Amino acid sequence: MELESIILPGVDKKRPLVISGPCSAESEEQVMNTATELAKIGIKIFRAGIWKPRTKPGGFEGVGEIGLPWLERVKKETGMYIAVEVATKSHVEAALNHNVDILWIGARTTANPFAMQEIADALVGVDIPVLVKNPVNPDLELWIGGIERIYNAGIKKIAAIHRGFSSYDKKIYRNLPSWHIPIELRRRIPNLPIICDPSHIGGKRELIAPLSQQAMDLGFDGLIIESHNCPDCAWSDKSQQITPDTLQIILDTLVIRDTTQTTESLSSLRRQIDDLDDQLLELLAKRMRVSGEIATYKKQNSMPVLQTNRYDEIMTKRIAQAQEMGMGGEFIKTVLEAIHEESVRKQIELINK
Ligand code: PEP
Ligand code: MN
Repeated sequence: MELESIILPGVDKKRPLVISGPCSAESEEQVMNTATELAKIGIKIFRAGIWKPRTKPGGFEGVGEIGLPWLERVKKETGMYIAVEVATKSHVEAALNHNVDILWIGARTTANPFAMQEIADALVGVDIPVLVKNPVNPDLELWIGGIERIYNAGIKKIAAIHRGFSSYDKKIYRNLPSWHIPIELRRRIPNLPIICDPSHIGGKRELIAPLSQQAMDLGFDGLIIESHNCPDCAWSDKSQQITPDTLQIILDTLVIRDTTQTTESLSSLRRQIDDLDDQLLELLAKRMRVSGEIATYKKQNSMPVLQTNRYDEIMTKRIAQAQEMGMGGEFIKTVLEAIHEESVRKQIELINK
């Protein structure tokens, strides 16, 4: 892709590029108060959701077009650039009519090729930076496909936003970071800037600092962080919004390592290994949980813990599968035996409770 820089005049070229502002524009006062404080700490790009895609009806769906003049006022009075989420052709038109400087596309929208194409068509002939969030599901091709639709419409200032991926089991994160996916995106489109959204990945204030640091260590180009003049009063995503003061502390404590290419790629590979190990552990824990449910079933039905046929079947099938995937048979046998042993140990423990 032949991309142009998304850094607009007057914005610092150094890492990280920072975008901040409330999840949603709620009132002119909230928008102006938050923006004024952000401008004071040197933030150059102000974000605010005007149309909010909600999982269920009945939630706060954004103030709509009446909020756009508030953002224009931010631009006029603070000199910040303004960024808004768009999901339809009419959003694009309204945003452009109100001099919005940067558009972003939300995760639920990127997941829908029809919506992406509609937005792309509305952007033909327009020169504006467009930031494409990853789709809600961990599908790199869908993310790249969305980016390509925007690029094919003639937009050259594009960046990706990594905001994590939905998962059924919610534990630490609101959305699983699955860092290997943005890292693979970097490999596939090396000149595409990637911005991390620690607010939506973490879902909680405490996770914003560590996630931002991790994104910087992985060589991400920027951060988009939700901030609000009164986070606890926010109409949407309140548990993940921080005050501009807290944002300043987080940004000041970030360590930006600009290491040489070779060590940077090594540490990025190590991060990928860490991330994959995390996934392995989560999967193993999930497997143990299901195995525990089987133990309960066996107990209720007075069945023995060990069922040799089933064990043989698992071993034969998985060893062949692993070999086809390029792993040694002995290796996978050892791994499966260890997993099975632990699983039997836990089942016996549960049955004798
Ligand atoms: C947002 O940025 O407020 C938002 C709705 O994010 P996402 O599309 O990542 O859920
Ligand atoms: Mn939000």
